[in-house]
Amino acid sequence: MKIINFAKSPDEPMSVLTKTEEGLIHQKFNDLLNHCTHCDGKTDQRMIRKAFRMANEAHRGMRRKSGEPYVLHPIAVAKIVTHEIGLGAKAVICALLHDIVEDTDYTLEDIENNFGKKVASIIDGLTKISDVFDNKSSLQAENFRKMLLTLSDDVRVILIKLADRLHNMRTLASLPPNKQIKISGETTYLYAPLAHRLGLYAIKTELEDLSLKYRYPKIYQDLVNQVADNEKQRGMMINAFAVPLIDKLGEMGYEFDITGRPKSIYSIWNKMQVKNVPFEEVFDLLAIRIVFDPLPDIPEKTQCWNIYSAITDIYQPKPERIRDWVSTPKANGYEALHVTVMGHEGNWVEIQIRSRRMDEIAERGFAAHWRYKQEGKESSSELDKWIKRIRELLENPDSNALEFLDDFKLNLFASEILVFTPKGHIKTLPQKSTALDFAYEIHTQIGNKAIGAKVNHKLVSLNHILKSGDQVEILTSDNQKAKREWLEYVITAKAKSSIKSALKAETKNRIEKGKQVLEDKLQEFSLKPSSRVLRKLLHAYDVTSKDELYSKIGSGIITLEELKKILRKNTKNKWIRYWELQFTSSTSKNKKPAPKKSVDQTYKTDPKSPYLIRENIDETEPEYSIAKCCQPIPGDSVIGYRSQDGSIIIHKAKCPNAIKLMSSQGNRIIPAKWTTHKILSYLVSIHIQGVDKFGIYNHITTVISKELSVNMRTINLSSHDGIFVGNIDLYVHSTKDLNNLIMNLMKIKGVEAVNRVEKIED
Ligand code: MN
Repeated sequence: MKIINFAKSPDEPMSVLTKTEEGLIHQKFNDLLNHCTHCDGKTDQRMIRKAFRMANEAHRGMRRKSGEPYVLHPIAVAKIVTHEIGLGAKAVICALLHDIVEDTDYTLEDIENNFGKKVASIIDGLTKISDVFDNKSSLQAENFRKMLLTLSDDVRVILIKLADRLHNMRTLASLPPNKQIKISGETTYLYAPLAHRLGLYAIKTELEDLSLKYRYPKIYQDLVNQVADNEKQRGMMINAFAVPLIDKLGEMGYEFDITGRPKSIYSIWNKMQVKNVPFEEVFDLLAIRIVFDPLPDIPEKTQCWNIYSAITDIYQPKPERIRDWVSTPKANGYEALHVTVMGHEGNWVEIQIRSRRMDEIAERGFAAHWRYKQEGKESSSELDKWIKRIRELLENPDSNALEFLDDFKLNLFASEILVFTPKGHIKTLPQKSTALDFAYEIHTQIGNKAIGAKVNHKLVSLNHILKSGDQVEILTSDNQKAKREWLEYVITAKAKSSIKSALKAETKNRIEKGKQVLEDKLQEFSLKPSSRVLRKLLHAYDVTSKDELYSKIGSGIITLEELKKILRKNTKNKWIRYWELQFTSSTSKNKKPAPKKSVDQTYKTDPKSPYLIRENIDETEPEYSIAKCCQPIPGDSVIGYRSQDGSIIIHKAKCPNAIKLMSSQGNRIIPAKWTTHKILSYLVSIHIQGVDKFGIYNHITTVISKELSVNMRTINLSSHDGIFVGNIDLYVHSTKDLNNLIMNLMKIKGVEAVNRVEKIED
């Protein structure tokens, strides 16, 4: 055996172990040996000792980030593998050696020579798997599944990797916070669902809890405290509930454990997120587990049902809440009978009925199964059976790669999605984030230059909403600039503020450019941009301020072709309007700001100059927003409500809220008028109903997607007795678009009625 006394990449510089540390290592190793209940015979023992010696030599002098001798890590992993997962000697040997090829000068050959082909191939798998998990290659759905498939030649590879990750999570405190968060994210995204898939509930739960602890330390600690505070009361409730059951099961001759099923911190948190309910509501739901030692000569299944029968003699069952995984176990091997009954206090209690064997499987995965078979020869074939089962799961042709990953996503944080960069890096975003949010998440400049995106290799628009597991690539162009409507596309604060500052910079640029262009042009007529000249121009180009004028010249919206003609024209002064008063004065420092009160008066006395709702408002104009209660779109008759901060809220003229405002705060109501809208789209709902004929849904969506200016957001149709009804949410530019669409939908055979849904809410 080759003995090399240095390591390629030790976490810490080489150092000599102290006597105490040497002692600790041997103590931990003996502890491992004592827990190797599935390793039998002298040969196993001998090989495990040999593996320990090799690991101890190979990692000699290496330390973990925490400062402890490195070899304690493989020993701990080996103990998890045997004690918590229930694997045998080979797996223990592999766990002891798992970091050797990657981190030291030992080779696969050394391992094969000493421990044989099988151990070497598992170590090889472990070395490869860490490449995949450690972000060196893409972690897309298909790759991920393929990788699991190749590795599941021996599922022990995945199980040892899980044990490795579990120990790393248990000792995560010694890493810096950024690493903690990255590793915890991966754990939630990949390892915990993987453990779930393999039926390792105890490990899955611990991985989830530890991830939560490092990702959201404060939330985690709060929940831990709350659980502790409430535990006593819950215990009392469970006791009261259990007493009659204990008597009854005793009469039936059973040895059993009855426990209040502990809820993991993560599952409490997850439920609070998903159902949006407070802690108490999650925590107060009682769940009880009965684990019984089966009586001889009666099938376990029969005994489960006998216990069920005994329980329902005492408590009333909820009929639709029986889950029978005794007759048909879950794909991952889970067996149990679940029943929900009404407690005497009038609350629902979920009871899980399991035999001791079923409980082992539930907690430790199918590997635990073999413990119940005869020791020795039988055991490895039981394990083989389980391995075969996992392979079948992974190979199942019915579940394509994405569905496979969907299973994994069940466990994701409800409020977040995790998406991949083309290189397989994980990014965390809030739910409902769009491709554009992602672009800004990567880099502000990528956001500003984004023109589109590819999600899972399919071209999508920037407002495409991302899902967990998506791989996203952003397409950029140097000619692209941030656009105002993008503010509607994004939900992250980072994207919003980046867009706003890009717009500001852009406006400033345009204004300067426009100013220069105008000055040059006026120069040709030997004129200066005096207030007299400017006033003429403002009027002629129908703009409301100097800055808007400059900006429009700068962006090319206003060409100065007719400048000469305009300058010759005589203008009268009566056109000075509210907006000029208000906004040229407030933006130019030289003029006195017009007092607010007089503005209101101007408005009331001059109802003919309404607020123009433009698509491209400048920084200089007050911002407007569309009222959520009535959601007007261009073409609707509308009014504006000037809010405290000066921005204008556009309501439908017939909106009850607007009517209320008119009567109570009439001075803040101003007339408003749409200008042409070609770029921005507005959300409307239509209600549609008709006869449910074959292909009609397809027909409807085709008509909608053919209407060029219309974008469908959601479609929600349901059919009942041959009639379908439902709502479709769309983005349109104006009532004209909408009316066209409604007409075209009405032409479809079978469509009976199409109406715009007039949203009226508070
Ligand atoms: Mn390791």
